[in-house]
Amino acid sequence: MAHGRAMIPHNRPLITAEDRAAVDAVLDSGWVAQGPQVKALEEEFARQYGGAACAVSSGTAALFLALRALEVGPGAKVAVPSYACSALLNAIYMAGATPSVVDVLPDSFCIDPASLLRRAADADAVIAVHTYGAAADVAALRQDGRKIVEDCCHALGGSTDFGLLGATGDAAVFSFYATKIITGGQGGLVWSAAGALIEAVRDYREFDCRDSYVPRFNLQMTDIQAALVNSQLKRLEAIRARRKEIARAYLAALPGGLAVQSGLDDARRMAYRFVVRTPEPEIRDALHRHMEHAGVGCAVPIERYELLHRYLKLDPAEFPVAEKLADTTLSLPIHSALSNAQLAQVVDAISRFRP
Ligand SMILES: *Cc1c(COP(=O)(O)O)cnc(C)c1O
Repeated sequence: MAHGRAMIPHNRPLITAEDRAAVDAVLDSGWVAQGPQVKALEEEFARQYGGAACAVSSGTAALFLALRALEVGPGAKVAVPSYACSALLNAIYMAGATPSVVDVLPDSFCIDPASLLRRAADADAVIAVHTYGAAADVAALRQDGRKIVEDCCHALGGSTDFGLLGATGDAAVFSFYATKIITGGQGGLVWSAAGALIEAVRDYREFDCRDSYVPRFNLQMTDIQAALVNSQLKRLEAIRARRKEIARAYLAALPGGLAVQSGLDDARRMAYRFVVRTPEPEIRDALHRHMEHAGVGCAVPIERYELLHRYLKLDPAEFPVAEKLADTTLSLPIHSALSNAQLAQVVDAISRFRP
């Protein structure tokens, strides 16, 4: 442990004076539940992506509602990457559908279309996670008419040759949880080019003052959260630029023998995580100890026991890439609250590591 200085946190939200003022204005208005700020957030997404958007209480709620609106329910099979968070499984079970776990690609860490054909060719839908900001191959995944939900919880503002990530699937979901690119503390959003799909999401989100009864649920975002999100959304380009700057500094300092996720230096990428790959698990663990000793908080982004095929007690031998990634990856701090002094401290620490 480094002496005389605080550990650099692996992640930390950046809340500015403007963000605080935006929240204060909501508190002063007397309207703190879902209201004009939530509406403004939805309109901003519709302006940038086209189509329509519905803000909800979390990314998990957004996933559930997107599946439900796409009529992916009982009897339907949903392919998911193994190297992902369990929110995917939760949303699929909430919708009454069945998950089908697929291995991932070693370079992008995203769902592998060839593994999909081997393991889940009959899937009705795919949750395509743009893992850590890398683009999943939506065009390959959607073949044979599969419905695509793009999970953009790591990829807000990222784009490729095909345009904004999220805009080519049947629906896209976003999360504004505390550790994401921008945050309301909690929160999520469903986007779709199809207005009718968003109407179905909207219909389920609120139960009060309805003219006919069907079971619904309260999955609303508050205006307090939406004000925070709206305020940070205005800074999205600055956030991207800062994350890119940090990524470039780390790439330049990275000793030989360590690899990174593909596309990290792509200017259009939203660099949500800077994940280092080591050749062997022991080197990852040594790197982790080395960084913590230098006062740099790092994280194993997904531990082996968290892999979705492990949660579902499937044979690990069928998911060799996900297994290897869980054992050989380490995430470095890349959040926009990182100061220049902290950036220099991380760069110094990485450059001194000998694999
Ligand atoms: C965070 C996250 C979710 C879930 O979002 P919550 O807002 O935490 O419910 C889903 N998918 C991915 C890829 C995420 O990173």
